[in-house]
Amino acid sequence: MSNGSLRTLDRLGDVNGTRVFVRVDFNVPLADGSVADDSRIRATIPTIRELLDGGAALILASHLGRPKGAPKQELRMAPVAVALQEALGGAAPVRGVGMPAEPSTMEAVEGMGAGEIVLLENLRFDPGEETNEPAFAGALADLADGYVDDAFGAAHRAHASVSALPELMLASGREAVAGRLLAHEVEVLGRLREGPDRPYVAILGGAKVSDKLGVIDALIDRVDTLLIGGAMAFTLLAAGGGSVGRSLVESDRLDDVRAAQTKADSQGVAIVLPSDVVAAAEATDDAGVTIVPASAIPDDLIGLDIGPETVERFAQILVDAKTILWNGPMGMFELEPFAEGTRGVARAVASVGAFSVVGGGDSIAAVRRLGLEGSFDHLSTGGGASLEFLEGRSLPGITILEG
Ligand code: ADP
Ligand code: MG
Repeated sequence: MSNGSLRTLDRLGDVNGTRVFVRVDFNVPLADGSVADDSRIRATIPTIRELLDGGAALILASHLGRPKGAPKQELRMAPVAVALQEALGGAAPVRGVGMPAEPSTMEAVEGMGAGEIVLLENLRFDPGEETNEPAFAGALADLADGYVDDAFGAAHRAHASVSALPELMLASGREAVAGRLLAHEVEVLGRLREGPDRPYVAILGGAKVSDKLGVIDALIDRVDTLLIGGAMAFTLLAAGGGSVGRSLVESDRLDDVRAAQTKADSQGVAIVLPSDVVAAAEATDDAGVTIVPASAIPDDLIGLDIGPETVERFAQILVDAKTILWNGPMGMFELEPFAEGTRGVARAVASVGAFSVVGGGDSIAAVRRLGLEGSFDHLSTGGGASLEFLEGRSLPGITILEG
């Protein structure tokens, strides 16, 4: 669980004339065959530049989507190579190549000069990536003299490129270290995990309470107050006897959320649920909406956002916070009638002086859509990885880089 002992780029020493494998998280959203949001690419540019400036040749690799172990035309890395080239602003040529063991890949890698980049094809086109297969890791290891992991978003998975590969590198006397992005994530999230300034308030939302029971449980041990919005609030409201209409309720989780509530009570942690919600008969972008009490939603309506009174109550609590963690939108923010709760909470976080961290793919998309990314101290690039890290679990992709 320690994070002071992460080996970083400094440990690599002089990289001039060497070939460095960099595991990046270029699992970016695509639309119409191009990269729709290049934030994850831009986040790793400092690591790439530092290595290039040092005179290394770079082999970059990532997964993209869920091809399930076989090539899929729409999940090829070609558009990512274009976006990377743009993000680098011509600082280095980027060449897209195939899978590691292909002769053409080997040839391209062997012909690389200092300051050049090749981008491997989607790692998950090979079934060995997700099964952490030594043979696949071996093919990756054959390409480089050293290994850098900058893919925080993939650190919670024991996959070949983040687990077996660095193990192999170390076993063969080569370095395996964390890139700047990964090290920064571990530092910032480590601060939330180990010594947050108090009061520490966490805001949880999003779709499924079942995805986040582990986080809720771990956060109860760490925070002073837990504000809960999003669809997950309805499972808690229903567990407390509320009428939630046709809102999303995971009825097989009622006992779990009751147990969480009991634990919170015994530790003096307040779980604050919505008092009013924005409800509609259907989730559409021209839905007629009404504001109703959160525990008395009419039978024919769905709760799709937290209401104005709840936004105000959450904002009041956030005013005093010194540390804020936010994961999960407050409502179905993709549709304008249900975006106001997320917007209001984002503004409330932005307006207080607390150290604020946002994690989660959809939460960050929401913050960007609202143009509020500058208002947070840290936007974590990890979704599942951030949450597992905050739960206090050890992540295979990080453990191997420690010591
Ligand atoms: P993150 O990716 O930030 O971890 P999640 O994936 O858990 O967040 O949840 C995001 C999704 O939750 C969004 O697509 C949003 O529309 C949905 N959501 C939030 N509130 C509601 C609600 N009240 N009813 C239905 N869906 C909701
Ligand atoms: Mg999500």
